[in-house]
Amino acid sequence: MDQYVTGSAIRQLREKKKLTQEALAEKLGVSGKAVSRWETGKGYPDISLLGPLAENLSVSVAELLSGNAVENANVSANMLRSEFYVCPVCGNVLCSTGECAVSCHGVSLLPAEAEGPDDAHRVSVEVVEDEHFVAIDHPMTRDHYISFIAGIGSDRVQLVKLYPEGNAEARLKINGVRRICYYCNRDGLFSFSPLNSSLRSVRQVSASCQVAGRP
Ligand SMILES: [Zn+2]
Ligand SMILES: [Zn+2]
Repeated sequence: MDQYVTGSAIRQLREKKKLTQEALAEKLGVSGKAVSRWETGKGYPDISLLGPLAENLSVSVAELLSGNAVENANVSANMLRSEFYVCPVCGNVLCSTGECAVSCHGVSLLPAEAEGPDDAHRVSVEVVEDEHFVAIDHPMTRDHYISFIAGIGSDRVQLVKLYPEGNAEARLKINGVRRICYYCNRDGLFSFSPLNSSLRSVRQVSASCQVAGRP
């Protein structure tokens, strides 16, 4: 447990549930004053109350502690709606089929928001037999590099990890890939659809290409 529940998390979740402090207090068998103290940062709920508190606020204990109510709108686990979480400290990459509460190095990670390719992160895609050969025109220094390239279909994610001093390129099986993402350690996540011009063998994807954004 890298953090304890905060007052603002309790207040937000309580208000979302349209419960008064007194009503929540009653469900937990504590005084309204106690709930008020937690919410104003003058005290903490006893650890034995975390479970009941989470339950009455309709979240998991993990969400309660992260201060983030997670709504997984992707219960069918469609991989096309995968989220990427990248730790800013160690570069750890997590891929999830929906939003979740995760942390690495004590940082609560947020899902990376994808943008379309820009001039500093141009990408080219070449079809070589049954693969997309994806190359990004970008430096690969220790300070600034492309850290992964992923090909996403409805039922699979191909994730290729890249390293500084290597090449900013990857081969992805074309099979089912509907969205290609790549991540710059400084500038974040980029995403585009390789489908638009799939009949051409070589194509340049510029900033004007279709953005496969978040739903
Ligand atoms: Zn980390
Ligand atoms: Zn960059």
